Amino acid sequence: MISAETLAQRQPVHAIIGPDLTVLQLGRSLKRICGDAAGHPFSSLFEILRPSLAVLDAATLRGLGPAFCQVNFLPNGLPLRAEFLPGDGGCVVMIGSPAVLSIEELRQYGLGFNDFAVTDPSVDFFMALTTQRATLDELHAVNAKQREQRKELELINARLEAATREANRASAVKSRFLSKMSHELRTPLNAITGLAELLRDGTRDSEQLAYFDDMRDASQLLLSLIGQVLDLSKIESGQMTLECQPFDLHQAIQKVMSPLRARAELRGLACTWTVDAPPAVWLRGDVLRLQQIVLNLVGNALKFTELGEVELRVVLAQGRLHLSVRDTGPGITPSDLEQLFQPFVQVGPAPSQQGGSGLGLALSREIAALMGGTLTAQSVPGTGSTFVLDVPASIAPAPASLAITAPAPVKAAPSQAPLRLLLVDDNAINRLVGQRLLQRDGHEVEVLESGEQAIDRLGSERFDAIFMDVQMPGLDGLETTRILRARGVTSPVVALTANALTGDREMCLAAGMTDYLPKPLDLAELRAVVQRVSAA
Ligand code: ADP
Repeated sequence: MISAETLAQRQPVHAIIGPDLTVLQLGRSLKRICGDAAGHPFSSLFEILRPSLAVLDAATLRGLGPAFCQVNFLPNGLPLRAEFLPGDGGCVVMIGSPAVLSIEELRQYGLGFNDFAVTDPSVDFFMALTTQRATLDELHAVNAKQREQRKELELINARLEAATREANRASAVKSRFLSKMSHELRTPLNAITGLAELLRDGTRDSEQLAYFDDMRDASQLLLSLIGQVLDLSKIESGQMTLECQPFDLHQAIQKVMSPLRARAELRGLACTWTVDAPPAVWLRGDVLRLQQIVLNLVGNALKFTELGEVELRVVLAQGRLHLSVRDTGPGITPSDLEQLFQPFVQVGPAPSQQGGSGLGLALSREIAALMGGTLTAQSVPGTGSTFVLDVPASIAPAPASLAITAPAPVKAAPSQAPLRLLLVDDNAINRLVGQRLLQRDGHEVEVLESGEQAIDRLGSERFDAIFMDVQMPGLDGLETTRILRARGVTSPVVALTANALTGDREMCLAAGMTDYLPKPLDLAELRAVVQRVSAA
């Protein structure tokens, strides 16, 4: 049991508070800290005692029970007590060091509140505790705020993660949908263009020939629209990636410009191009995307120019490829210029009659950005427009043999020996179209409906080339080719696919295929690929 003497040395600190919350009496230790606060409003003392009284307001204080005890833990692990004793019309606040007993215990010793001697060390101790407590309170407040902020951040993160998961899921669904739709739309288109091509071949009637040509043009337009919508979706979902393959710059430009010039000449327009680059220079990049931009810019220039000329200038200098397409068309007003690069925007007197989707420039600019470059436009209304593509260019060594992506010359008619070809496709119309197109050039063409049939057939037979549909029920074209290669079949295998998604080409090559033809089959491309594989 602790003695009264010891208690006196351990010094509780106290204040007696009147009903109007003024301090009636202070323990002597508190007097040292607060000065003579008797008669002052409690609030001024409250400030000083704030660390231990902060939780209380005047009303709460008055209503406290007789043995209320608040224990606060200090950083050094010591408890600091404050006890509130409502008395007659007021209350007593006892603030104590660790060893201070409760008021009840004090009373048992018959001690009053003023009965304790003041010693300097206890006052210093209390002051130190008060300061520590204040700092600790601030730290606690900061910590609490940080905890709250962390919780908020965690909540935001969780929401973001959920949103990202949802977006990824939606994007995957969209990609699957696009891939499926791309296939579903191209397959019948393949049948329409192929059959029209076959019918046209047997027709001499000029009116019917014109109908077939219109049909072909409409199919090509539809095909390019499907391609554009697919491209836009790919860009939006961040799934468009660029190929990086060597290509012959002069050939690539010529391949896209020759048919455009022929179209321009029919309308009495001059369409010229110059390539200011070393002869036979090869670059590394995505030639098809580059050609897509040129086709869009020159195609637009031709579409909108009635009189005069369209000129493409290509300059390869200082590690950059600079293409400018200038026309003498109607021009574009400054306010319309920037808008043109937004999807689906068409301007001019009667946009609805221009044809097109308003997607070409938006896509071209996105592709230019993916290439690390820019696509800009300048125009003087009434005089003409100039569109400029500027992209980084990296020179590649010319490959020893023609790579799969090397542009092949488009031949009007083959002059080679007839080949023995096999065509594998589950779609009957596609089989018919492919077979007839190839037969027209004098080749012997056998057709099969499935990968399984191809594996049976190729056990005993050899063909000069195999045209293999990629999407087939059962064994698909990729799996079939893998099995054929594993069994030692060395004939070139050309993938036929209605998918036009990035990565298809790589997948086909990885499966052991030799070349790649997108559907709908284009006669010129088909001939070029036959030439390539037969020459290899
Ligand atoms: P599309 O040609 O398929 O409608 P684009 O995005 O390629 O889509 O072009 C958008 C619009 O920009 C065109 O509809 C036309 O109004 C305008 N435009 C593009 N190129 C030219 C040009 N060379 N001269 C005048 N207007 C042009």
